[in-house]
Amino acid sequence: MEASLYLHIPFCAGVCDYCDFYSIPVEPKDPRIRRYVDRLLEDGKRFIQDLDITAVPTVYIGGGTPSMLGASEMRRLLEGLAEFWEVPPEEITVEMNPESGDEAFLEACRDSGVTRISLGVQSFHVPSRQAVHRVGADYRADERLRLVRDIFGRQFSVDLIAGLPFQDENILLRDLEQVFAYEPVHISLYALTLEPGTLLETRSRLKKTLIPDQDARDALWITGRDFLEQAGYEQYEVSNFCLNNNQSIHNIRYWRMKNWLGLGAASSSTLIDDETGTGRRVTFEPDLGLYMTRTGTPLTEVLDVLTLMKETFLMGFRYRRGPEEKLFQKRFGLSISECIPRTLGSWRMQGLADPQKTALTSGGLLFLDRFLRDVFEEIETKIRK
Ligand code: SF4
Repeated sequence: MEASLYLHIPFCAGVCDYCDFYSIPVEPKDPRIRRYVDRLLEDGKRFIQDLDITAVPTVYIGGGTPSMLGASEMRRLLEGLAEFWEVPPEEITVEMNPESGDEAFLEACRDSGVTRISLGVQSFHVPSRQAVHRVGADYRADERLRLVRDIFGRQFSVDLIAGLPFQDENILLRDLEQVFAYEPVHISLYALTLEPGTLLETRSRLKKTLIPDQDARDALWITGRDFLEQAGYEQYEVSNFCLNNNQSIHNIRYWRMKNWLGLGAASSSTLIDDETGTGRRVTFEPDLGLYMTRTGTPLTEVLDVLTLMKETFLMGFRYRRGPEEKLFQKRFGLSISECIPRTLGSWRMQGLADPQKTALTSGGLLFLDRFLRDVFEEIETKIRK
């Protein structure tokens, strides 16, 4: 079986108010870091053997903050992973944050086969960063961009957020221009969301942090999108833009619902049987202690045909090229056009879906939630009949 690998590193230098990823704040030399790497490598070896994974097309080390591992633990992790395959993955991405990813870290990544760095800048604007308690200084982000450019050439991505407190159009455009100066082939521009249970959601509700309202946040994001497109970046997914087709191969595999194996606290794996159109998902608890001591009970879910079909649409229509037609036909025994003719027809009439492909247009992506509601309603009506 072929499966991509995702490794979750649940360590950060601090906690950002808007974040809903599982992560705990640690000091750089925390002894748990070394033990966690041991555990990831043990689990990787075990699962790859047990599940008979014979090819790993892509690897993504995300978090949390993978650069909190430091150079030597990241090198040890990558060298340990390399023992799992005979043919190296086509793409290995490592996320890093400016305050923890230094020159030695980047060199360790480059020397151990990493093909792509994803740098979490979010914003250079100090009041915006401070308002959401984002760790790290603005000048450090600039320094790190230079370093990443020196060591990885243009093969890196930068994350930015639109809709932060104290951010207006000029500030967002300044952020984008500052990033452009380093010519990354990939930029992710996220719209700030208030995830339930986050500090930002509470603080915003209590008016302790003032964020732009939803319309203003949307307008800011659209300003950023237009600017990116004018600069030649192609929007190939809801929040992702690239130059010269430098898309994230790993993420495309999620959007097209290909198998992936997740390792680490809070990670999940999804393994699909193409013949039956069903699958299973196993999710580790978001709890470092349970993961390290193997005392947890990972959540196991069966993905039946309807669930998997819905997920295929949910993920696939985020991507500008849409879900993968051939795979859909193989898994579900009909084409996408046969499955949702009413929704596709009506969205094409409105100019929001591509007339040639089963995919949304750039304008249609802005209404993805509404499109998915129509899709789910159409599928459920069919099933009830
Ligand atoms: S650095 Fe990233 S993962 Fe860590 S708390 Fe901030 S947003 Fe979350």
